[in-house]
Amino acid sequence: MLRVAVIGGGPSGSCAAEILAKAGIETWIFERKLDNAKPCGGAIPLCMVAEFDLPDSIIDRKVRNMRMISPSNREVDISLDKVYGETENEYIGMCRREVMDAFMRDRAADLGANLINGLVTKIDTGTNKQGPYQLTYSDFSNGDTTGETKKLEVDLIIGADGANSRTAKAMDAGDYNVAIAFQERIKLPSKEMVYYEDLAEMYVGTDVSPDFYGWVFPKYDHVAVGTGTMQKNQSLIKSLQAGVRERAKKRLVNGEVIKVEAHPIPEHPRPRRVVGRMALVGDAAGYVTKSSGEGIYFAAKSGRMCAEEIVKASEGGKKIPTEDELKKYLVKWDKKYGATYKVLEILQNIFYSNDGAREAFVEMCDDLDVQRLTFDSYLYKTVVAMKPLQQIKLTLMTIGSVLRGRALAPDKYKPVPSAVREDEEVTKMLEVCSIKGGIKVDKNGRATTEAKSLSK
Ligand SMILES: Cc1cc2nc3c(=O)[nH]c(=O)nc-3n(C[C@H](O)[C@H](O)[C@H](O)COP(=O)(O)OP(=O)(O)OC[C@H]3O[C@@H](n4cnc5c(N)ncnc54)[C@H](O)[C@@H]3O)c2cc1C
Repeated sequence: MLRVAVIGGGPSGSCAAEILAKAGIETWIFERKLDNAKPCGGAIPLCMVAEFDLPDSIIDRKVRNMRMISPSNREVDISLDKVYGETENEYIGMCRREVMDAFMRDRAADLGANLINGLVTKIDTGTNKQGPYQLTYSDFSNGDTTGETKKLEVDLIIGADGANSRTAKAMDAGDYNVAIAFQERIKLPSKEMVYYEDLAEMYVGTDVSPDFYGWVFPKYDHVAVGTGTMQKNQSLIKSLQAGVRERAKKRLVNGEVIKVEAHPIPEHPRPRRVVGRMALVGDAAGYVTKSSGEGIYFAAKSGRMCAEEIVKASEGGKKIPTEDELKKYLVKWDKKYGATYKVLEILQNIFYSNDGAREAFVEMCDDLDVQRLTFDSYLYKTVVAMKPLQQIKLTLMTIGSVLRGRALAPDKYKPVPSAVREDEEVTKMLEVCSIKGGIKVDKNGRATTEAKSLSK
């Protein structure tokens, strides 16, 4: 009987283990920290809820409003009421990762996967990396923080161990560039929190990121405020976070930072994703999209697709799949999502490259056709073909917006006004206190530990 180890108990690992266990394959899933709160915005598309049978209890908020904020503070609202009508069927789910990950992992265990609270420290890959594979791990299941060293032999490994994947190193998968994402979880006064009840904000501008966006996402009882940037600008991350804080400061006034987190995000897939009988899924493989930085759905989906291929090739666990059979998962994956990754990369290169383009991007988001196209593809992961007239309109709009955008780009960034208080009141509040805790910023809102600054 085939023996499979899934290393990593995030969405990719749990969804892989679930499929294997359901097929009756002997499966171990390793997670080093069972209450792990993966640094993440926690936004999931609607289609994931039904496709992965997620209960309402793991969704903290159902967001139906997205506010896009341009470098010059033009605010454009995307309301799902406007796009889909007032049915409340559509929403972006906001989750806490510790809750969602635990649910999916426990479900895999209930279906028969052996859940091991352990850190895999070494992988011996056998002759020519073909296995059998010997894992060495620290078993924390007895509550001891140092763990008991144990070994396990398996025929096949799924590397679902995230951006710092040990499996990728063992199989010599090759490196990828990693963007960095930084996030502060901030508790707000109740008046400000009501504003973020079912609204997420997305800020663009060189002040918040030279190649991505900054965000304020509502969570259970606080907001997650963060930004990201590509590997080449990593050293600027704290000054960019200070930029988001500064722009949103009137909306985050008197907030208190309860958690600071940072984590790498892969910028593209690894050169090799299957070697021998080892396959990478999720962030370990490099499946985060450009433009949106979305990775949870793609992690879950890749875990599932990889495991389905293993079930098929092993005839339900009767034989060990070959490398070529495992690679069929890659062919199917690239066919299904290759174009999505490419389009989102092109969009990021065009619209996040300078403030003029960012002004154009926000302006275009005001158009209902653009909103529908964006949300259909995000919420349902479907690309809806445009009618020829719509295509012409979109092309003309893009050109017009890009030309206008250059003139609109500001010389200086300013904070957006408070959404719930008079400006005078907020100004007085800011004199006493802006945001308590988190990264250190000087009185001008600049990160004090950052020597470098961004040229526009
Ligand atoms: C700040 C930030 C915000 C983000 N926001 C969003 C968002 O809003 N929406 C979205 O879709 N995506 C978002 N992403 C991306 C998303 O978090 C990832 O794409 C997703 O978590 C990938 O899932 P995964 O299962 O592949 O890996 P992970 O979630 O990283 O899970 C890997 C697991 O493996 C465990 N592990 C690692 N090594 C070992 C080992 N040796 N032994 C045992 N266990 C191990 C880890 O503890 C972890 O639980 C964000 C990322 C960041 C950094």
